[in-house]
Amino acid sequence: MQALNHQFIDNCWVNSHGTRHLPVMDPYHERQLTEVTAGDARDVEAAVEAARRALPEWQALGGERRGTYLNALADALTARREALMELSATNNGKALAEAGIDLDDAIACYRYYARQAGDLEARQGRRITHDIEGVDAYCYEDPAGVVGLITPWNFPLVTSAWKIAPALAAGCTVVFKPSEITPLPEQALAEIALELEMPPGVLNLLHGDGEGIGKPLTHHSDIDKLSFTGSNAVGERVMQAAAEGSRGVSLELGGKSPILVLADADIDQAADWVMAGIYFNSGQICSATSRLIVHETLAESLFEALATRIDAIRLGDPLGANTDMGPMTSQHQHERVHAYLAIAEREGLHAVRDARHRQLPPHGYFIAPTLYRDVPTDSRLWREEVFGPILCAHKATSDDDAIALANDSAFGLAATVISGAPQRARRVGRALRAGNIWYNSEQIIIPETSWGGFGHSGIGRELGPWGLADYLEVKHLIGPAD
Ligand code: NAD
Repeated sequence: MQALNHQFIDNCWVNSHGTRHLPVMDPYHERQLTEVTAGDARDVEAAVEAARRALPEWQALGGERRGTYLNALADALTARREALMELSATNNGKALAEAGIDLDDAIACYRYYARQAGDLEARQGRRITHDIEGVDAYCYEDPAGVVGLITPWNFPLVTSAWKIAPALAAGCTVVFKPSEITPLPEQALAEIALELEMPPGVLNLLHGDGEGIGKPLTHHSDIDKLSFTGSNAVGERVMQAAAEGSRGVSLELGGKSPILVLADADIDQAADWVMAGIYFNSGQICSATSRLIVHETLAESLFEALATRIDAIRLGDPLGANTDMGPMTSQHQHERVHAYLAIAEREGLHAVRDARHRQLPPHGYFIAPTLYRDVPTDSRLWREEVFGPILCAHKATSDDDAIALANDSAFGLAATVISGAPQRARRVGRALRAGNIWYNSEQIIIPETSWGGFGHSGIGRELGPWGLADYLEVKHLIGPAD
């Protein structure tokens, strides 16, 4: 596979200024696929200049025409579906079906914001109704400007779509930095921009790591707004950088989300949703429902049902038709989850299924699905984001007890409620402090709804009209009535 030693700036591939080379891995075979040249501040400078030059024309093009580019991008992604899924599974370690979800959610997002771009144009200059006589007021929504977008490795296509699609729809121009760990799927976005002959400078893609590209991008004074998805530690640094020049910032950060199984839940259905909430994508999902809060009367039978399902998970080649769960995406993540397993051992947690007792494939950064029961609420595994296939369970005595346990977290990204009565599930869901709450379902993403979290899970909302508003500056023209 060709080395990624070019940056995509002004609709051209240009040599990266960087001199450091980072391996791009296949985590199943534990082998290097290719390498990426980590760019530096000079690449950021060139990309920001290109994006600034492109801004007036891209804004003037209007929402309708910008929307046609977004639809064309969605079409081009659809046309490459098989190849992209394979690339994503290979570079990311996702099972093929999970790679398909990443891609399909991304495509749905580009299409949704294509429609939103048209709606935006239609509402420009609308008259505001108000009570003051003899005065007219008109509302306009302008693009926020040149935006810097940074994404993590776990769902490369969808996390980038949630930023790129609304930014372009709003009329912003983009400097985008994918994760250096999984740069291959997103590379396709640059190839597609070229193929579609998008106006030069509208979408720029820079390869590199946090030090080489991330830092200079977030500190660049000509970036009007930053949008970041990733860890809390880096998110705080991005926010500090945004403070220079009082620039806008949105952050999608970590989670430690609860799943509440209420006393009237059906055990088999609950078990299916619990499994989907934590073991999907090998647990490497910000909204993983990694804290199971189960009514005490159901706990034993639920643990039994989960144990059977955990034993049935087939770990293996992400490209294999019979694989349910692939490896961790990187050696670093593998070591990080292992460190948590060691903490669990030191804390004396009681495992229903233990990662260390299962036969693993002969190679690959695998962690076997694990379930700990009766986890104390001051355990580090109960409170910290592990980002792996590790589920912690705790019993509740009532709905109110379950709500209190669920809300006792610094994070507030997602939550799930399982109940035999939808109204009861919604009542409990309404009491939870989280941005994305599912009831009797798991991990459903709808572009029309919002995505984002309370507390340490971030600032702002992606998706829906809120995601578009993040890239807009609102202004009013007010004067005597005509
Ligand atoms: P990370 O914070 O290590 O890296 C994210 C991105 O930031 C990467 O592109 C990285 O190169 C870049 N980066 C690193 N240092 C930087 C710096 N100093 N300045 C600017 N950019 C820098 O996160 P990760 O390990 O890639 O992803 C896992 C984390 O992402 C988890 O905490 C997970 O919860 C979170 N996440 C959140 C959401 C959400 O929607 N809330 C979605 C996916 C992942």
